[in-house]
Order: sequence, then C-alpha cells, then structure tokens
Amino acid sequence: MVEEFAFDNTEERRKIRQNGEVGWVEVIVGSMFSGKSEELIRRLRRAQIARQKVQVFKPKIDDRYSIEQIASHSGMTHISKPVMTAAELMAQIKSDTQVVGIDEGQFFDAEIVNAVNELANSGKRVIIAGLDQDYTGKPFEPMPQLLSVAEFITKTHAICVKCGNTANYSQRTSDSKERVEVGASDKYEARCRKCFVPRPDAPTIL
Ligand code: ADP
Ligand code: ZN
Repeated sequence: MVEEFAFDNTEERRKIRQNGEVGWVEVIVGSMFSGKSEELIRRLRRAQIARQKVQVFKPKIDDRYSIEQIASHSGMTHISKPVMTAAELMAQIKSDTQVVGIDEGQFFDAEIVNAVNELANSGKRVIIAGLDQDYTGKPFEPMPQLLSVAEFITKTHAICVKCGNTANYSQRTSDSKERVEVGASDKYEARCRKCFVPRPDAPTIL
C-alpha cells in the first residue's frame, strides 16, 4: 500500500481512486481496411448504450466522408468533431465526459500523447484508433508513442487483396510520395508482408 502511494501521491489522484473513477487509454492500430474505425465505432456505441457521456474527435485533415462524422469503409458512421490540433481537442472536452473517442490518431501532432494521458489521469476512458505504419512501412508517429502509454492495445488486420493472406500493410497505389495522401481504395489497398512493396505500386486487378 505504502509503495503504491509512492507513485501516486497527489491529492487529486487519490480522490479519483477513492471514487473508483480510474481512467485508461485504449489504442486500436492496424493497416487501412483492417477495421479500426469499425472497432472504434462499436466501442463507442456500447458506451452510449451504457448511458455514458461520449465525445468523439477526428483531425481536420481527413475529409474523406462527412466532416462531422467518423466513417468506416463498410459504411458505419458516428458523429465526431473535427479539430486541427491536440490543444483544440482538449479545449472542447467537457468535465462530465466519461469516454473520449479519437479516429485517425496518426494525423495528430505529438502533443496528443500528453493530451490522452491527461484525459486518462482525470478519470476518462480514451479510445484512439490510427494507422501504425505509413505507406513505406515506417512507424507512423505519434502512434508508436501512443502504443507505449496505452493500457490496452488492439491490432486489427485486413485481407491481402493480392493473395488472401493476413494484411498488415497499406499499399499505396497512387503515384504520390507525400507521407500524408488522404484516400481510400482509390489510392490504397491492403497487402500482406509478401505482397507489400514500400513504394507506390500498380493496383491489383480483381
Ligand atoms: P480502417 O479504419 O482500419 O481503415 P474500416 O473500419 O474503415 O477500416 O473498414 C473495415 C471494412 O473495410 C471491413 O469490414 C470490410 O467491409 C472493408 N474492406 C475493404 N477491403 C478490405 C480488405 N482488403 N480487407 C478487409 N476488409 C476490407
Ligand atoms: Zn499477399
């Protein structure tokens, strides 16, 4: 007991623990088309069924579908607030919010790591989904940093469109060399380790 409080010695934290309001961070990562948004939306819907107060955010850079929504490739949607930065997200958090959902975490600035920690420290459940690798297979910051602070991690997988194996990569099929190139099946496809190449490649003809 004494040892535990040595790491947890602020009045505020002690109060949270006494009230049973302990927050935590859940991270959902995987390639494109792996079901990250579906999984995020599923968890948010369940929280709402439990009558919890939920706020959902996504970075403004991603305008694939409706601006005020997060959307999966299979058509599931959930209302969300577009924000430019982690600071803007924090400014919109209401004190009675219990669950904070965030999609497309890879498009946030590095400050998102402190932000989710702060939210969890104040007793909130934070669920953040994002791409763990860019189109060349490199770790996509700030997702690695978020993985390291999360209590719970879920890795989702797609199906390789070339061979049907488990896909762990987002193959770019458009010509751009920009790290951020927003698109869906017009610019990317899911591929396995064997079929992935770390540069733009011709799309698979189905
Ligand atoms: P993510 O957020 O990881 O990009 P989504 O949740 O938006 O994924 O979409 C997942 C859905 O995409 C699947 O349920 C399926 O309907 C569809 N889909 C399209 N292509 C593939 C693929 N190659 N592998 C798996 N699912 C795919
Ligand atoms: Zn393959």
